[in-house]
Amino acid sequence: MGKIIDGKALSAAVKDEVRAQVGELEAKYGRKPCLCVIIVGENPASQVYVRNKVKAAAYTGMDSKLIELPADTTEEALLSQIAALNEDPSVDGVLVQLPLPKHIDEEKVIDAISREKDVDGFHPGNVSGLWLGKDCIVPCTPAGIIRLIDSTGESISGKTAVVVGRSNIVGKPVAKLLLDRNATVVIAHSRTADLGAVTRLADILVVAVGKAGLVTGDMVKPGAVVIDVGMNRNAEGKLCGDVDFASCEPVASWITPVPGGVGPMTIAMLMQNTIHCFLSRMQG
Ligand code: NDP
Repeated sequence: MGKIIDGKALSAAVKDEVRAQVGELEAKYGRKPCLCVIIVGENPASQVYVRNKVKAAAYTGMDSKLIELPADTTEEALLSQIAALNEDPSVDGVLVQLPLPKHIDEEKVIDAISREKDVDGFHPGNVSGLWLGKDCIVPCTPAGIIRLIDSTGESISGKTAVVVGRSNIVGKPVAKLLLDRNATVVIAHSRTADLGAVTRLADILVVAVGKAGLVTGDMVKPGAVVIDVGMNRNAEGKLCGDVDFASCEPVASWITPVPGGVGPMTIAMLMQNTIHCFLSRMQG
């Protein structure tokens, strides 16, 4: 029987650590870290994510700003808003909630956020830092996944890790983080022939695809640690992962639920990244 990795509890512990740090940083530097979140348009899922991010920032005691822009905001207006925040000495972290309306080039927007304030870790300077093994801001979801695996007490070094999905925000960076921790890493994707044969190799299986129930129990190696990144709505509108929990949980040694696994950790790591940005700016 798989033990549940409680992302909610771990996230709460990380947010408490950040809360303690915020107090210490304010005493030392005379101001609190500040996270600025921009949302363009009224995508309901994005609105929920943004609200949760601002709520988490408030919990930790850091300052936060929420900038809500209408869906018809021009790319130029968004870029000038970002430029102003880059220059604003009271702002440490800038996050633009994705996806953006179709008429705005996401890549341009990501590139426009200064590397030092890029709390999402999506800026090319941070991406290259990750791949070259230099100091960088690590994307929140992949960083949270490593914390979840570490929380099981299972070591990553020497294990075979299979990551299903190769996106820039989850699959690729988590594969690199697992490699950095000396796992032998395989990345699977939509063109992988016989996905089950590949996932059955995994001591650590991370699934970040966006297809409800893609991974079933017969695709999991007995005793594997299974991390489900997927956030999908089923026919009843209920949030569910990429992993079929009912069939995988009896096979896995550890498994994350959806909801209550990776999602809450992503937000906790965002708080940590804001501290990271604050400290790099303060310490030059
Ligand atoms: P993307 O759509 O960017 O990438 C999906 C990846 O899955 C692609 O690499 C794609 O392969 C691969 N894929 C698609 N179909 C299959 C298949 N049948 N078999 C194997 N691989 C397949 O998604 P994201 O990485 O952005 O997100 C993945 C999931 O994680 C989503 O459900 C998203 O909502 C969730 N998510 C959750 C977060 C959280 O905080 N909990 C944060 C970010 C994402 P190919 O490259 O060949 O097209």
